[in-house]
Amino acid sequence: MPRVVQYRTAPPDVLPAAVTAEACVDLDAIAGNVRLVAGLTDALVMAVVKADGFGHGGVRTARTALANGASWLGVTSCAEGLELRDAGLTAPVLCWLTSAGQDFRAAITAEVDISVSSVAHLRSVAQDAARLSRCAAVHLKADTGLSRNGARPEDWAELVAAARDAERRGAVRVRGIWSHLAHADRWAHPGVGEQVGLFDELVHRARAWGLDPELLHVANSAAALGHPGTHYDLVRAGAAVYGVEPVAGRAFGLRPALTLRARLIGTKRVPAGTGVSYGHRYTTPGESTLGLVPLGFADGVPRAAGDRAEVWVAGERRPVAGVISMDQFVVDLGDGPAAVGDEVVLFGPGDRGEPTVADWARWAGTNPHEVLTRIGGRVPRRHVGGDRG
Ligand SMILES: *Cc1c(COP(=O)(O)O)cnc(C)c1O
Repeated sequence: MPRVVQYRTAPPDVLPAAVTAEACVDLDAIAGNVRLVAGLTDALVMAVVKADGFGHGGVRTARTALANGASWLGVTSCAEGLELRDAGLTAPVLCWLTSAGQDFRAAITAEVDISVSSVAHLRSVAQDAARLSRCAAVHLKADTGLSRNGARPEDWAELVAAARDAERRGAVRVRGIWSHLAHADRWAHPGVGEQVGLFDELVHRARAWGLDPELLHVANSAAALGHPGTHYDLVRAGAAVYGVEPVAGRAFGLRPALTLRARLIGTKRVPAGTGVSYGHRYTTPGESTLGLVPLGFADGVPRAAGDRAEVWVAGERRPVAGVISMDQFVVDLGDGPAAVGDEVVLFGPGDRGEPTVADWARWAGTNPHEVLTRIGGRVPRRHVGGDRG
């Protein structure tokens, strides 16, 4: 088969003329981030592509990650796993947010691995597998301290025994044992070692009671980059894939992949003291040019960031003026050049001095993950670079 060469439709720093707003995803950045993670570990790399690839497009992110060092894909729901299969992706996939009583048959048929957290959960998967005369691959989730999903240590023996019985009947195969960390984003936090210690003990018991999992995994992006003792057989990288630095106060050289930008759809010259947007929370300090940007909180621009946020216009950062509305906000352009159609970058990789998603997260009092995953459905996504599949 000839190799299909992918050309960029435009470099990622150029907004197509006809577009008034877009989320542009640089697949080359995703590729580089995955390679960076893979280069720091001997473990397999799972690209976590839940929530439509943190808003970057799940299938495209998955393809790019698989071509650059990832070998597993991680999602939460069975539906997300099936979407990857429907797109023709055959790499192993784990889904980890399901419950007893769900219909697992489509996932089992599509060979999507299923995380199970309780005896009832395991039996539910095993029953669906038996109905299909198939063997479901499961990963037993241990709650080692996050207190979300997973079996608590006192319930571990019962879950392992049920899994061993289901394995003997041929209904399931325990492919993995795994857990999730509470403090990996903190450098040298003692909680990481405590969870890993408990995880080791639970794995040891599972083996002693007859299970033989091929994959142990606990690390997310922060642990993959900042806690080498947590890698085991596989690391689950989400944030890092998208270029979000996951460890507080440290930078590993990841490149933000998503640029959110728009064109000014209006400008006006106003005198000093002009109140702007609902409630006039902003008044112009001097005579000024205001620019209107057609993106608002319905598009995922965090309303809570309004009083502090800046955007990048004509080579500099300019303040958002007043309240961010549902569909639009105003930027104070001062005496700078301003014309309808000028590009406004809300966030990007930061190369040119534009804000990054981490800046917006700080202004809004949240994390970059929330800002990225809330970019609204009406903002067109455009993929450049890499394998645009
Ligand atoms: C979302 C998620 C990840 C990825 O986390 P990042 O911190 O974004 O790398 C890993 N594991 C589980 C269980 C998750 O839910």
